[in-house]
Amino acid sequence: MKITQDDYSIHNRMEGVAAEAVDRLLAENSNVCGCAMCREDMTAYLLNQIPAVYVPILADQAQNEPLVLEQLENQLFRKVIVEAYRAVHVVRSNPRHEHDRAAMQNCTELMVLSPLNDILNKEGLQLGRDELSQIMAGVLNMLEPHYTTSNKGHAYVRTAELDSGEWAKFYCSIYDVLKRLAILPS
Ligand SMILES: [Zn+2]
Repeated sequence: MKITQDDYSIHNRMEGVAAEAVDRLLAENSNVCGCAMCREDMTAYLLNQIPAVYVPILADQAQNEPLVLEQLENQLFRKVIVEAYRAVHVVRSNPRHEHDRAAMQNCTELMVLSPLNDILNKEGLQLGRDELSQIMAGVLNMLEPHYTTSNKGHAYVRTAELDSGEWAKFYCSIYDVLKRLAILPS
């Protein structure tokens, strides 16, 4: 069994919140480029500064209503707005309009797949889509997100794969979640 991104469904609820915060600041700042590329770069930058809130998308469960800024508790709300200002400033000072782009994605998700496959094989686990979605959401909520919009993201993945400290963090988080979900005995 080899798990790929097609084998589970998850969603980071902060993606909608981040896009909303960026839109809000751009609406107030007409002198900042608000093209789709800059918007996505700002959103990715912001998402890396705030904790991820991944949820599994389960087969028999209705989709959550999208999370909106106003629902966040005060401290997180303020952090999102402050970091959104920073994101707009960073991208505005260094806009990147090249066409060689990848769709925005969280590289941490790609990095988790290899240790997860390793553990599932070692433990002889055959899991269904819902279980894999719960595992991936749980693990990604424990790790720092690394959203990227460029193909350089893949260079980041390779560097992190060589870092044994990072690697250990992935293994610990995966085992933690497998025990929490009672897929492995604790
Ligand atoms: Zn732009």
